[in-house]
Amino acid sequence: MRVPRFVGNGQIDFVEKAVPVPGPGQLLIQVKANALCGSERGQFFKGSTVTPGHEAAGVVVAAGEGTSNPPGTAGVVFLMDFCGNCRNCRLGLTNQCLQKRGDMGFNRDGGYGAYELVNESIFLPVAPTLPLTDATLLLDVMGTTAHAITRAQRIHPDLQSLLVTGAGPIGLGVLAMAKIMLGESFPVLIADVVGWRLTLAEQLGGKPIHLTQSTLAEGAARHGLPRVDGAFDTSGKEVARRGALDLLDKRGVLVCIGHGEGLSLNVSPDLIATERAILGSEYFCFNELPANVERLQNHLPYLRQIITHRFPVSEIQQAFELFWQGETGKVVIEQ
Ligand SMILES: [Zn+2]
Ligand SMILES: [Zn+2]
Repeated sequence: MRVPRFVGNGQIDFVEKAVPVPGPGQLLIQVKANALCGSERGQFFKGSTVTPGHEAAGVVVAAGEGTSNPPGTAGVVFLMDFCGNCRNCRLGLTNQCLQKRGDMGFNRDGGYGAYELVNESIFLPVAPTLPLTDATLLLDVMGTTAHAITRAQRIHPDLQSLLVTGAGPIGLGVLAMAKIMLGESFPVLIADVVGWRLTLAEQLGGKPIHLTQSTLAEGAARHGLPRVDGAFDTSGKEVARRGALDLLDKRGVLVCIGHGEGLSLNVSPDLIATERAILGSEYFCFNELPANVERLQNHLPYLRQIITHRFPVSEIQQAFELFWQGETGKVVIEQ
């Protein structure tokens, strides 16, 4: 098979690789769609020894011994090749596996290739009627964000308002999943510096704050929400985390989803007196996927708005160049 190779310096060429043969417990997936992700910035600019791509959906074409998903089964591939046996996996916390075997697309060949070899334990079948480009939404866009919202709810069970900093694909995902999980009229502020993204956020029901036109606090006050119960940072920027924390009401919770910079705290006012909490949230648990399959099926036209561009794999270079310019939602490579 001909697969894209991330050479580094923002260049992608194509090389020949052998199509893998599934061993016991493994499936060979013919990839139909794989979404681009901001976390691939390092691979795009510094290169990658494996084939990237960790938001893949496809169809089983060969099944190893002892597997139960026969050829023809459509489904999505979970990023983390968890062990299934450690203390955390046994509790279902498969995103915190203590003996993780790998991360698809980062140290295992991933979904930009025509075929991807996976352990069956990280493959979730979906209905054959679900378009596989849309099925990629189940991964980072819905999975990561629903997990983060659930973590916030654990600390703050009566959330009445939210702020999202960063209106990239994950920020848009938090907005959309908040609307689906907490109610269509649930108020969600969403802040960014890119007007294009905020227009899409507004279309999805968010209350936009354009940070080149006003501060976060001014924008929030203008929407009648000078304080919020929950905030989700998807930007990874310290200034965004700090601004979000300052907007939290008493008992408020800040969930950091975007990797990146730090955050300096003034512990007494930030945390003790106000009993606010700061959480991290990393990807999601495999057992959270079925609930999101149902949500995707129930809200397909709404969620599909987050996918703004589709490219054939032959144009993956152009797809990434467009994606880094920031005026897209999810960009999906189709094969
Ligand atoms: Zn991703
Ligand atoms: Zn484990």
